[in-house]
Amino acid sequence: MSVLSALTDAMSSGAVEVVDLTTPLQESTPILELPAPFANTSRFRLEELSRYDDRGPAWYWNDIHTGEHTGTHLDAPNHWVTGRNGPDVSQVPMRTLVAPAVVIDRTAEVEKDPDFLLEVADLESWQSEHGPLPDGGWLLYRTGWEARGGTQEEFMNADDAGPHTPGVSTECARWIAQESPLTGFGVETVGTDAGAAGGFDPPFSCHHFLMGANRWGLTSLRNLGRVPTTGAVLVVCPLPIVGGSGSPARVLALVER
Ligand code: MN
Repeated sequence: MSVLSALTDAMSSGAVEVVDLTTPLQESTPILELPAPFANTSRFRLEELSRYDDRGPAWYWNDIHTGEHTGTHLDAPNHWVTGRNGPDVSQVPMRTLVAPAVVIDRTAEVEKDPDFLLEVADLESWQSEHGPLPDGGWLLYRTGWEARGGTQEEFMNADDAGPHTPGVSTECARWIAQESPLTGFGVETVGTDAGAAGGFDPPFSCHHFLMGANRWGLTSLRNLGRVPTTGAVLVVCPLPIVGGSGSPARVLALVER
């Protein structure tokens, strides 16, 4: 039997499940909020063109208004100044879009400390238990943050000091970008950087190192609890926006049951 026939048979029988890791896109979908004087991204919004009415009697359709970085989305290397000469989102390699994925789970730690940062030691101990990180694959960082995705306020978790959301340390970001074989890093939060990362050195160090090393980011992922620690295949479907720095994306995981 061919590999692909075996796959489609397994999907029919339920031996392989397709899990949707995407946040639904609507006006209430949480988005990044940068402080003044920085520009901010748009909320997702539909603008109705016709709905079986005088403007189009037999059809319903909308224009969409969205930022590139709204909802579940892919960050391209050219999103950051360190990757400014790197690929745009239309140039993402197919092997980055369909690639092996592994999960590191720090839900318990983040529940105690919303500013929790993943360290290199966490990835080293993960590897001694589960084997090497996948060459050309994705590391998905489960934090439980998706449970806060119902409102902007809970998702940002900000106070006078700024947002409190989990991320990775500066050294861990550098390690993922420069020493791991990964193609990208995916998170449940609004961005790949921790809420406090504006104050890191360099600021927003996850973006700084990943984009500067031609790595890719994925945000606002859901259902990581349904993805096994190892063995899943990630399917990432951004729009091929020519020159774009990112795109809302449907993200799926193929998971063996
Ligand atoms: Mn982004």
